[in-house]
Amino acid sequence: MRIKTKLILSLGLLLALVIGLGIVGGKYIYTLKADTENILIDNYMSLEYAKDMLSALEQPDSNKALKLFESNLKKQERNITEVGEADLTKNLRTEFEQYTNNQFDNKLKTSLRNNLLGIIELNMNAIKQKSEIAKTTANNAFVWISITGTLCFLIAFTLFFNLPSDIANPIKVLTESIKQIAEKKYSKRILLDSKNEFGELAHSFNVMAEKLEEYNNSNVSQLLFEKKRIETLINNMSDPVLGLDEDKKVIFINQEALKILNMNEGECINNFISNLSLKNDLFKLLADSIDIEETTIEPKKQPIKIFANNKESYFEKEVLHISILPTGEEENRIVGHVIILRNVTEYKEVDFAKTNFIATISHELKTPIASIKMSLQLLNNNRIGNLNEDQAQLLASIKDDANRLLKITGELLNITQIESGNIQLSIMPVDPDELINYAINAIKTQADNKKIRFEINRPEVISMIHADNEKTAWVITNLLSNAVRYSHENSVVYITLKEENEQVFISVRDSGMGIAPEYKDKIFNRYFRVPGTRKEGSGLGLSISKEFIEAQGGEISIESEIGNGSVFTVKLNVV
Ligand code: ADP
Repeated sequence: MRIKTKLILSLGLLLALVIGLGIVGGKYIYTLKADTENILIDNYMSLEYAKDMLSALEQPDSNKALKLFESNLKKQERNITEVGEADLTKNLRTEFEQYTNNQFDNKLKTSLRNNLLGIIELNMNAIKQKSEIAKTTANNAFVWISITGTLCFLIAFTLFFNLPSDIANPIKVLTESIKQIAEKKYSKRILLDSKNEFGELAHSFNVMAEKLEEYNNSNVSQLLFEKKRIETLINNMSDPVLGLDEDKKVIFINQEALKILNMNEGECINNFISNLSLKNDLFKLLADSIDIEETTIEPKKQPIKIFANNKESYFEKEVLHISILPTGEEENRIVGHVIILRNVTEYKEVDFAKTNFIATISHELKTPIASIKMSLQLLNNNRIGNLNEDQAQLLASIKDDANRLLKITGELLNITQIESGNIQLSIMPVDPDELINYAINAIKTQADNKKIRFEINRPEVISMIHADNEKTAWVITNLLSNAVRYSHENSVVYITLKEENEQVFISVRDSGMGIAPEYKDKIFNRYFRVPGTRKEGSGLGLSISKEFIEAQGGEISIESEIGNGSVFTVKLNVV
């Protein structure tokens, strides 16, 4: 039976019984009240009138007695309720009429008394009879009220014991099952075969649990499939890859990585990288790199040299820190790291070949250029013969080109030295004044051609610096050469020397076109030239300068404003 119907029926029955009980009780109380009222009005009053008439007959004052008799007789005449009472009252009236005319007739008086006693007896009998009826009514009331009350009690008792558990038990079972589902126990089912609302609820719950179970199972298999797919993908990658969890424990490693590490999967998986670093140097390098990359903002990437594939191989290492935003949280959390080693051996080999080629060509070109310069010098000599103006001009332009070629081959040779990591430094105490004088002399002709003069600002005393004389001179010459080349004619190039905090600053300031802010960082890159630069050049001078100065532990920087010239500053340590 449905819960709603059950509740309506039981509570409805209870209500009906309470109403029934009220009606039965009310009805009997009303009947009892009517019975007692009847006795009081019908018979008790007649007894009172008869008693008053009897006492009137006995009174000595005849007038007062007759009046009392008369008034009570009238009341009795209006209160005839019993069978035979009317005849007796009528006789009483007749005899009272006679008695008023002859008050000394004792026979009449006795008859009046007998009549009154008759009325009294009649009413007394009636009272007795009516009280019997009231007693029966009371008994009946007791029986019916008891029956209805017992029924009410029985129904209330049954409801009290059954209804709460009928409602609460299925709810308890349901709550328990929902908790199990929340704990991902999707196989949970509710067995309730009742046909009420709870039965329907249990059925819907079972359907939901079944669908959840199906969904969960399909998800797990899908996830397993996806995991397999990703594992296969990582394993088939030609670059070595390994993954670590947040505690830096190896969780996956592909075949290429195992090959270069010379280890097997069992040794690595679920092992801390710190433990593996103890047995394997490459692991140590990788472990260190994670810590460095976690703290450094932009690490400088240097390829790692590893003996792999039977030759010296180069790998560029990339560390990815995997972070996720956990559900309900506000901050990202690192959940692991992936290390990818990109095999760049092929590019390195090509790069070596290119560097070698440039070095060889530059070297080979130097000798013929030097002999060209020598021949030019001879041609300029009057002893071989005089040159006319046109010839002298041609000769001057050949000399310019030869100088430029020499500059470029020199720069190319320098860059090959840097690229192959072979910067040979001979650090010694160097006098900054000498450096500046050397550079000014080297650029003199170039500056004179543009009528540019140099102005030097220096303190009275300046310390010797810790530097490679030749390379630093090359850098200052290059800065002066740039200042001259990128300045207008008839301008001044300022050279400032300054000493501060055990460091010497050499600045070269021109009043040329300046450099736009977006190119300031790029001009130190190899082969970079500010777009639109018309003067000849290779874009190598500043990058070589930076490498040379940094190799000596110094720094090179630029300050420039477009249209307002540039200041290049070299900072080197004092001896
Ligand atoms: P380049 O041989 O082209 O001069 P550099 O490496 O010496 O090569 O300079 C790189 C670029 O920086 C130049 O091409 C030029 O555009 C810019 N540059 C260098 N020095 C100056 C300067 N003093 N004033 C303006 N631009 C300059």
